[in-house]
Amino acid sequence: MYAMALYITSLNSGSNGNCYYIGNNTEAVLVDAGLSCRETEKRMKKLGLSMSKIKAIFISHEHTDHIKGVESIAEKYNLPVFITAATAQRGRLHFKKELINYFVNDKPVHVGSLAVTAFSKLHDAIDPHSFIITGNGIAVGVFTDIGAACTNVIKYFGKCHAAFLETNYDDEMLDRGSYPIFLKNRIRGGEGHLSNSQALGIFTSHGPSFMTHLMLSHLSRDNNNPQLVHQLFNSHANGVKIIVASRDEQSAVYTIQHQNMEALNDNATVKNNRHIKLEQTKQLSLF
Ligand SMILES: [Zn+2]
Ligand SMILES: [Zn+2]
Repeated sequence: MYAMALYITSLNSGSNGNCYYIGNNTEAVLVDAGLSCRETEKRMKKLGLSMSKIKAIFISHEHTDHIKGVESIAEKYNLPVFITAATAQRGRLHFKKELINYFVNDKPVHVGSLAVTAFSKLHDAIDPHSFIITGNGIAVGVFTDIGAACTNVIKYFGKCHAAFLETNYDDEMLDRGSYPIFLKNRIRGGEGHLSNSQALGIFTSHGPSFMTHLMLSHLSRDNNNPQLVHQLFNSHANGVKIIVASRDEQSAVYTIQHQNMEALNDNATVKNNRHIKLEQTKQLSLF
């Protein structure tokens, strides 16, 4: 494992459940807990990730696809939950007193050597937030359930080495699709979800030069197509690895590190080939 890296994966992404894992070598956080406790455990195990690494859960808003498993996971693993009072109340969530923590907009919460900063966003929930997680000099953002590219989204996206970015729907597919008009308007209204083209605008205009990974997230089952959106972003990727997060299964675990760290590792390969080979073997066996 690389000392200066963060590891990220999506355990599931979409209106049927969202759960994102971001961690370093010793600790990790979950952003949202929209899978059951059992399914979360199962998918973590498949990836070779230990539940004991998770030190906290952060909740973005009260929609069921983000909170379904939070009470049972927090209870079973005695994990602190970071949430706002309004979200907990609207989501009818109950935790042991000692597990509940209220985060404050724009103020980092420290979880071991990770720092998690919440920022408010536009979405039709009582008190919606997104998060940016930093550690080892790397920043990873989770940007889903967003109605429009507000200044917060733009500001924090510009800091990310890797990002989970919502690409909920293709405009034409939503237009032609069978959803009732009120639902179409809810989705594309300023407090619904980001379309492929809105997300592409955020990526191409505000993605920083040091971004290495973009995980397209929260795809609609009916109004989007994973191949189509993958292709769309790939044609603008400019070296960034584009991944589509699945609605049905966990993604792989991706290692996020500074680009100059890769260069450092390349130099080290010349100097000490054996050491790097050992590191790689260790990483393979972990994941
Ligand atoms: Zn959602
Ligand atoms: Zn939502």
